[in-house]
Amino acid sequence: MTTILFWDIDGTLLTTGRAGIFALEDAASEVIGTQVDLSNLQTAGMTDREIAAETLQLGGVEPEPAKIDRLLQLYGDYLPASLPRRQGYVLEGVREILDCLKHRTDTISLLLTGNIEAGAKAKLSYYGLDSYFSHGAYSDRAHNRISIAQQALILVQEMVGAIAPEKCYVIGDTPHDIRCGQAIGARVVAVATGGYSVEALEKCQPWWTISCLPEPTIFMQKIGLADA
Ligand SMILES: [Mg+2]
Repeated sequence: MTTILFWDIDGTLLTTGRAGIFALEDAASEVIGTQVDLSNLQTAGMTDREIAAETLQLGGVEPEPAKIDRLLQLYGDYLPASLPRRQGYVLEGVREILDCLKHRTDTISLLLTGNIEAGAKAKLSYYGLDSYFSHGAYSDRAHNRISIAQQALILVQEMVGAIAPEKCYVIGDTPHDIRCGQAIGARVVAVATGGYSVEALEKCQPWWTISCLPEPTIFMQKIGLADA
């Protein structure tokens, strides 16, 4: 049966150095009509829809769905130009593992992310990871991460048919990722390369907690793909 890997983006595959804040501030000033300082906004583990709602509230605007949609659309438009404004990078071990998974026919990697689709695509293409992912579940329509995880599960069932929970893995860097993985019965690989320590992640009882992604042979062995 196919092994399914659902990947979070920020803090798991890459870090943008919070460059997205610039795009969000520009989008917010257009929707709200005044400048909003978002430099202290905590975004780790939050979906873009949740971040957009919080941004509107910080600007004194009621977070109605139409305003959230408009803010996210502008944010997606502005993000490609804002990514070069900060020094980000692909996180340790990511490219090596994705290279290893890429040619396997018994494994599918998908995105399971709080990013909107346009934001996910902008980040992955800027950091050269876009060729590894053709499908994903995003926050464009789903408000919270658990409903994004449920979307991801439906998507993958449409692609490959029945799946075995013990062959589904969610790889993420926050307690939100752990909870959403647990909610769909997946095994969660918690990686402490975002804002949370190994100890903080362990408290949420993921299936495997690591300080960073290991070399591919160790990763493959752990997820039961050591034979090829
Ligand atoms: Mg993350």
